[in-house]
Amino acid sequence: MHILVAGSGIAGVAATDALVQAGHRVTLVSDGHPGATALAALVNPFTGPRASAAWRYEDALSALSRFLERQGVSLAPGLVRPARDAKQADAFRSRAAEHPDALAWHDAAPPDGVCAPFGWLDVRVGGVWPDPAADLARHVARLKHSGRLQTVTAMVQRAEADATRVNLHVQTLECDGVIEADAAVLALGPGLWDVVPQLAAHLHRVKGETFEAQHVDALQLPAVAAGGYAHSEGPGTVRLGGTYDHSWHNLVPDTSRGEALRDRLAETLPGLGPLVPGTARAGLRVQRPHIRRPLLMPLDQTGRLWAFGALGAKGLLHAPLVASWLPTVLNNPAELPDDLRA
Ligand SMILES: Cc1cc2nc3c(=O)[nH]c(=O)nc-3n(C[C@H](O)[C@H](O)[C@H](O)COP(=O)(O)OP(=O)(O)OC[C@H]3O[C@@H](n4cnc5c(N)ncnc54)[C@H](O)[C@@H]3O)c2cc1C
Repeated sequence: MHILVAGSGIAGVAATDALVQAGHRVTLVSDGHPGATALAALVNPFTGPRASAAWRYEDALSALSRFLERQGVSLAPGLVRPARDAKQADAFRSRAAEHPDALAWHDAAPPDGVCAPFGWLDVRVGGVWPDPAADLARHVARLKHSGRLQTVTAMVQRAEADATRVNLHVQTLECDGVIEADAAVLALGPGLWDVVPQLAAHLHRVKGETFEAQHVDALQLPAVAAGGYAHSEGPGTVRLGGTYDHSWHNLVPDTSRGEALRDRLAETLPGLGPLVPGTARAGLRVQRPHIRRPLLMPLDQTGRLWAFGALGAKGLLHAPLVASWLPTVLNNPAELPDDLRA
């Protein structure tokens, strides 16, 4: 089959990878650089104030590890979740007892550079994917070089399908045009609003921001999630993230939020210095309100046109798993796992 994948964030690249692996001819259509929207790099399978296990996290970690292996990269393992008070310490302790293979609870002795007076949860299966944007771009270039992938830079405007074909209406710098194929996967992140307006009611867009801050020992610090997150970004700097704005008006990073985030994280990471000017980045993550599970669904009766996204704050964890189902469901939509049906 010739399959179009629209969007080259983590979902689009994971979809492309899975479909190429399955022997399909793929054309990746996007308005941006592959991977450029992967702003931060934490893989956290135990999220929220009670460190709840993410949906299908074991399968997701296996799929992610295979995806990373194909790119010749690996996670920097380990993620520290300091408890903020005695109540959260109780919750983390019982979570560790439920998942002894993935988590360990420690009442004392946090890693060097971390302050955790109420104890800390070691999320052993979590970690940092050091540079997802660069790796995803390189992976796309490699697939292209191998002749198994074509790429097109264009703005997708709409998509339609009939019983035999799909048409993607696109706009390039030079002209408007239509790209035709056997099937298409729309992995457009926040762009799904414009291209598939009927999905807008089922999706929510949240502004997220990341900032770099100084820390002399950045390279020795573990990745930390504590009402925000921090991971090493290189010598002398850490990347902070996690201020989310549900009623955003623009995608300009808000430095005052960055300062507040820095101050909050400095309780856990003493020694955190000022923000590094010019390194703030903002983006939109998309989620399904209440359901909080990724979106993979056919957009019409033909089963030729699919939407893939709504990965929320766990795009890096879940994208390869969900993408791995594409080769099967494109042939047979009935094979869509029950827990992905809305
Ligand atoms: C600040 C911030 C920090 C985050 N940190 C983490 C983290 O540490 N760990 C984690 O797992 N997740 C994190 N996330 C969430 C993660 O980034 C998302 O889950 C993930 O990016 C979603 O991937 P996606 O491919 O579905 O969408 P996107 O990454 O938004 O990709 C959409 C793609 O479609 C393209 N596109 C959109 N519209 C069109 C159009 N009309 N025509 C052509 N192309 C189009 C875009 O250019 C882009 O290539 C973070 C999100 C934000 C905003």
